[in-house]
Amino acid sequence: MIKYNLICKCGHTFESWFSASSEFERLRKKNLVTCILCNSYSVKKTIMAPNISSNTKKNYTINKHEKNIRRKLLEFRNFVEKNCKYVGDRFSEEVRSIHYDNKDSKGIYGKATPEETAELLEEGIEVSTIPWVDKSEN
Ligand SMILES: [Zn+2]
Repeated sequence: MIKYNLICKCGHTFESWFSASSEFERLRKKNLVTCILCNSYSVKKTIMAPNISSNTKKNYTINKHEKNIRRKLLEFRNFVEKNCKYVGDRFSEEVRSIHYDNKDSKGIYGKATPEETAELLEEGIEVSTIPWVDKSEN
């Protein structure tokens, strides 16, 4: 098994396992490698760490479609910031307490590692990961 870091044209990065390096190309040609966020097939391998450095971002040519997605994500970010409580690194802790104590709470958002996110999902807690677009880049 080979693990690849994949990046979608919307900027979403994720990891995926393939049985062989040729398997990725095979599945990609069949449009079986898709981004969970925008359902795009424009997914490619990256050797970069999940966080793209700001230099890379600046050199990245943003086409119209990507701008559109960016705008949507920015709108979403604004919505989340307005309607949800920021809990920072305590996200998984807080989300569990809401889930298990049946707390009446408005939405929360914060940081969680991929491992924490996977654990929460396994416990049946609904969480989603969204790319956090940088406002200053507008
Ligand atoms: Zn995408």
